Amino acid sequence: MEPDRIEFFRQLLQERLQEILGEADKTRSDMTGSDSAPPFPDPTDRASLETDRNFTLRIRDRERKLITKIREALERIEAGTYGHCELCGGEIAEKRLIARPVTTMCIACKSSQEALERARGQ
Ligand SMILES: [Zn+2]
Repeated sequence: MEPDRIEFFRQLLQERLQEILGEADKTRSDMTGSDSAPPFPDPTDRASLETDRNFTLRIRDRERKLITKIREALERIEAGTYGHCELCGGEIAEKRLIARPVTTMCIACKSSQEALERARGQ
């Protein structure tokens, strides 16, 4: 891949990462930063707070996975292997990378893997 294309994807991935980290920060301060909360909330409030927190944790679990994928993609950029399929070693189409910059497989390998998973009933 051309160096200026690599640079393009590096920025794309870093922007994604900043976006997610920014969202995570917002979620964290929403969870803790409430000055108006009464010191002794009644049990009902407490229950709904717990539900909210579980919801937030679930979201953040998905974010955490995406963050890991983005970091791995950035590592592949550093290693010079970004844009190559991890199975066949062929180049991944740029259109596919733009749509999904963390992808590690070319479309042919991805579809045959998905077909295999379907056949196994996963
Ligand atoms: Zn492939």
